[in-house]
Amino acid sequence: MGLWRQLRWRIVAAQMLVVVVGVITLITTADALAVRSVEPALLADFQSAVVQALVVAALMATVAGLATSLLLMREILRPLREIARSSQRIAAGHYDERVVLPASDELAAMAASFNQMAAALEQVEQQRVTLIGNVAHELRTPLAGLEGYLEGLLDGVLTNDPETLSTMQHEVRRLRRLVDDLQTLSRVEAGQVQLHFERVDLAGVVQRVVAQLRPQVLARCLEFELENPDVVLPVYADDDRTAQILLNLIGNAICYTPDSGCITVRVATADGNAQVVVQDTGIGIPAEALPYIFERFYRVDQSRARSSGGSGIGLTIARYLAWAMGGEITATSAGLGNGSTFTLTLPLDQIPES
Ligand code: ADP
Repeated sequence: MGLWRQLRWRIVAAQMLVVVVGVITLITTADALAVRSVEPALLADFQSAVVQALVVAALMATVAGLATSLLLMREILRPLREIARSSQRIAAGHYDERVVLPASDELAAMAASFNQMAAALEQVEQQRVTLIGNVAHELRTPLAGLEGYLEGLLDGVLTNDPETLSTMQHEVRRLRRLVDDLQTLSRVEAGQVQLHFERVDLAGVVQRVVAQLRPQVLARCLEFELENPDVVLPVYADDDRTAQILLNLIGNAICYTPDSGCITVRVATADGNAQVVVQDTGIGIPAEALPYIFERFYRVDQSRARSSGGSGIGLTIARYLAWAMGGEITATSAGLGNGSTFTLTLPLDQIPES
């Protein structure tokens, strides 16, 4: 029973079955034909000649069957064994392991799929290592700041006056924001964010967010323009999450636009979609950085963004949320010093309201 489960013995058995069926068929047909068409006097000689020929043919067929079984086994079993060995190496942490593509099409397709899976695993592993490194790096900065202040207080170099305490509180808030952002990021990446879809007026959400951020804009002597605020743009989306995306996009525009610059927010429709365009006259984004700004922890100017408290994952979260609602966020910029434009696109809800 154990032998029967092995592919090699099944191949041998299949070949031998062909030999046995051939021999039995030949014996029975030769016998039937001989009785009908061979003279009775010659019948015994004829039958013995047939048996001799059959024995030789059966021997030759068995040898040929065993030889082809051997070739087939080498062709099929070797790649399978190699894939099994490679998967064990991958399981042991060697993510760069790949198998050589065998000659036959079907096995080559299987080996190619295996290599693809190994490459995907390697990429995930690389991302995991990078993520841990980034998180450690992001946590180190505020922690080092706090440690410095605490040491200063203990040594008596600093006094616990409101200014020192408020700087320490600022660092703690940065840590808290980073941890909150990381938690949200892990949830959106795992697709675990609960979205409450409903018919939402996108222009209304824009107005709400603009009103919320207006004090910051005024404090920074920036100008805010809200174009065509009266338009109604029904989308089927999560109200709070849409506001969260807009808070990030408009918040970034405020953060990266020097005083007395201008931020324009425009709502429009295009190709059956609703769009919010957030345009600023700020520091802009160099062309070579544009493809990366949605990646986790990516900041165009590390020092500037970190000092402003940015964790570099706001846009990553925003894009995941937009995707989860069937939308997209894109960014354009004419380069450093020439401002940036971020566009949030969400599918219009075209079902008439009941
Ligand atoms: P952060 O919290 O650092 O702002 P984000 O993920 O929101 O992180 O943005 C990533 C990076 O993209 C920022 O650090 C900044 O370099 C760049 N960026 C985002 N929005 C703008 C903008 N409106 N103008 C210029 N640069 C921007």
